[in-house]
Amino acid sequence: MIKDALRFAELVARRALGPHDPVHLVPLCWPALDGSCGCGRGHGERDVGKAPLLGAGYQRLRPTVAEVLEWWRRWPNANWGMLLEPWELVVLDLDGPEAVDEAESLGLPPTLAVVRGGRQHRYFRRPPDVPAHRCTKQGRSRAIDVLAKGYTVIPPSRHRSGDVYTAVDPRPPSEPPDWVIKWLLEAGRSGPPEEACPVRLPPVRLRLSPRLQAVLTRGRDADPSRYPSRSEALYAVITAAVAAGHTDAEILAALLAQPWVREMRRDPGRWLPPQIAKARRDVRVRFRDPRAPYLNGSTLRVEVGL
Ligand SMILES: [Zn+2]
Repeated sequence: MIKDALRFAELVARRALGPHDPVHLVPLCWPALDGSCGCGRGHGERDVGKAPLLGAGYQRLRPTVAEVLEWWRRWPNANWGMLLEPWELVVLDLDGPEAVDEAESLGLPPTLAVVRGGRQHRYFRRPPDVPAHRCTKQGRSRAIDVLAKGYTVIPPSRHRSGDVYTAVDPRPPSEPPDWVIKWLLEAGRSGPPEEACPVRLPPVRLRLSPRLQAVLTRGRDADPSRYPSRSEALYAVITAAVAAGHTDAEILAALLAQPWVREMRRDPGRWLPPQIAKARRDVRVRFRDPRAPYLNGSTLRVEVGL
């Protein structure tokens, strides 16, 4: 399952992806054999096989191949969704034969396509000046969705009906036709402003020294002589967690579980990922090797510098 999902992402990326490359896939609920929720969270009919497993705020994650493989080990049967915004994709979701006919009459250039029963997803590249919006139930058929943010279910996920999402025209996405761009621009003018939503991820335990574990749970109070401010205490924890080989999602989950971190700023789910990205750049500079896994004894080495 995961190999095919990653191969599909490589088609979109137009290149092979290594473990540290961003891949922007998120794990989803999967259907049991009888079509009911297989993930154990009791999803209703509409959500079976589609609901994200990571909780609110998953859209802001920018997962790498390594993170996706970890999620896959945790949920080996999961369906997979592709985040559209970071991939700069527009997906035309044609919800049945009438929508397919209408889109074809409006004009559909050859491009990457996925079929599931009588429905189709056509993948296009989003031009840089076109906003990442969604407009749904469009056209005369009221069955055409134009999606440039959120996620779409990708092959080889299974629908609750038993149908498998299947790529039928395996080529990289092409430029969208003019009518699709027009619809997106119109949605951009009338659409509501983006709402902030809190990130909820399952908390994880970070591999940190006992001293930094204390800083993680208690903040600057754990070691006030060393850290002039909460921000510096936070950054020390993030840097050590990066150096210990944790993924962005793990670090974010561990930080969001701490009340002192959540109180630092409004909307920590939006504010923290750039801090983690900065720490990742700093750690790479310090170790002078952009790809090394920093697992062996690296916590100690980082602490020396802080
Ligand atoms: Zn479920």
